[in-house]
Amino acid sequence: MQEPSLKIIELKDNFLKFELSGVSPAFANALRRTLLSEVPTLAIDDVIITVNDSVLFDEILAHRLGLIPLHIDDEVYDILREAYEEGKRDEYTVSFVLDVEAIDRPVMVYSGHLKFQAASFGSLSPMSARITPVSESIPIVKLASGQKLALEAIAKMGTGKEHAKWQPVATVAYKYKPKIKILNPKPKDLQKCVDICPKGVLSAESGELKVVNELECSLCRECEEKCPGVVKIG
Ligand code: SF4
Repeated sequence: MQEPSLKIIELKDNFLKFELSGVSPAFANALRRTLLSEVPTLAIDDVIITVNDSVLFDEILAHRLGLIPLHIDDEVYDILREAYEEGKRDEYTVSFVLDVEAIDRPVMVYSGHLKFQAASFGSLSPMSARITPVSESIPIVKLASGQKLALEAIAKMGTGKEHAKWQPVATVAYKYKPKIKILNPKPKDLQKCVDICPKGVLSAESGELKVVNELECSLCRECEEKCPGVVKIG
């Protein structure tokens, strides 16, 4: 039995792709479900609205604020996660304020208008730079000329199984790793076999059919069907 292993293929700020080997599909699916519902994250949970002249009801505004992803650095995250696991999430909170007025023209209120106010658990400095919305350009509501919005938003830790706003990932999916075997590298319709693949997995190099991008294969089996005896998908 192969030892379980994990190899990172692509890592960006908001995207991770990895290859998991030596585990069953059930394990991979359990990992997927755990990422969605069991990893604690920070999200706005309480909103105290002092002025709301906008067209949206208070409840809708609070819901929109809850869905804004928040960035926290590792040190702050560890403090909050530990407190959450000890059942102290209501004591370890982070608050933001938002105060926007459309004086003489309409103004769009964005996530960037949320300003860090305080953390209930100490003064790690500069805290304001370490707890921010992931993006400053998420629209919240548009204010017409003369309207105002003022509120305090309190963020707490939680998990996705309680509410989707605490999901740490937008989505997570897995697929079986394809095994592509070239049975006949010099088929009569070489270019047709290359062109049939919608994912650019096959290529013609020096008159031979080659696999160039195996992980991109979607297992659609078009190549097997349209070029019989040339490619085998496992
Ligand atoms: S199974 Fe589909 S995606 Fe994969 S190589 Fe064949 S045609 Fe391309």
